[in-house]
Amino acid sequence: NQQILLASRPDGEPTVDNFRLVETPLAELEDGQVRVRHHYLSLDPYMRGRMNEGRSYAQPQPLGEVMIGGTVGEVVASRHASFAVGDAVVGMGGWQLYQTVDARQRGALQKVDTTQIPLSAYLGAVGMPGVTAWYGLTQIIAPQAGETVVVSAASGAVGGAVGQLAKARGARVVGLAGGPEKCAYVSGELGFDACIDYRQHPDLKSLSAALKAACPNGIDGHFENVGGLILDAVMLRANAFSRIAFCGMIAGYNGEPIPMQNPSLILVNRMKLQGFIVTEHTALWPQALKELGAAVASGRLKYRESIAEGLAGAPQAFLGLLKGRNFGKQLVKLV
Ligand code: NDP
Repeated sequence: NQQILLASRPDGEPTVDNFRLVETPLAELEDGQVRVRHHYLSLDPYMRGRMNEGRSYAQPQPLGEVMIGGTVGEVVASRHASFAVGDAVVGMGGWQLYQTVDARQRGALQKVDTTQIPLSAYLGAVGMPGVTAWYGLTQIIAPQAGETVVVSAASGAVGGAVGQLAKARGARVVGLAGGPEKCAYVSGELGFDACIDYRQHPDLKSLSAALKAACPNGIDGHFENVGGLILDAVMLRANAFSRIAFCGMIAGYNGEPIPMQNPSLILVNRMKLQGFIVTEHTALWPQALKELGAAVASGRLKYRESIAEGLAGAPQAFLGLLKGRNFGKQLVKLV
């Protein structure tokens, strides 16, 4: 087996030296175990938080162990009655070629149907990022038709789904993304009403003016993936009784300070600001996945993937994700 371990903890921005690629032998399967050959690894921003020592909402990733992460693949050997060789499965196999898992553990491995939905989509639009978008939008922002919803990191795995789900509910949707290419995709292929290239607006005055122009009726709902300047600019344009879903604060994941400039606006505008962790809402996953799966199968819900080739490329691709070098869901294809 080939595995990537967390070799050391980063101080600020991580580097490839924080990871180590190792070869390990595969043991014989025991009763109840299933072996999966991974086809794709998911790379996600939350992994940065797990590289730190301090406890956050998730346990830190132990040093010297395989990097945690979502995976899709194919069963290649099984000693569990519910899984057969050839089954397509989703799991939390981590950054390695093969996963050996005790399938008796609830939720350790999920069979998926790839007849209408590509296997890789189960790590994106029909997986954790898709459910994240669905949860924050429907349970926190809950947009009414005609309201204006803003989404940051709009071309990404979560943001792209947020905007399309909001459009389907009759909202006016405005994205924020880094660079003209991403913005063209968001307002073109993804069908957002507008997209602001925040890199063209590096200060609060300029960004809030751009938001004012794109949101003539103010902002009723905001899905926050970034934090910092973007959040401050949105706050200045927020309407009374607006809602902000705090999903991610990627601008601060390497330890950068991201203070909120105008918290008094929460009171003045009677706003609701709510954070959430998608894995804590398992009861709603089936409902979310049903809508997301149907929308992807029918082609209504579009998404894009950035695919790095080979396990050895995972660390570099992960560092790129934290810098916005990905364009859509970041995956690693294990050829
Ligand atoms: P994305 O596919 O959106 O990739 C991350 C994107 O963030 C980059 O492409 C980049 O887009 C943007 N970005 C990175 N650094 C910055 C920065 N300093 N300032 C502004 N934008 C930046 O990732 P995901 O869709 O997987 O995740 C999106 C967010 O959702 C993350 O914050 C993640 O932590 C959060 N999340 C939260 C969950 C929860 O349960 N609360 C679950 C899953 C995800 P660009 O080039 O456009 O700037």
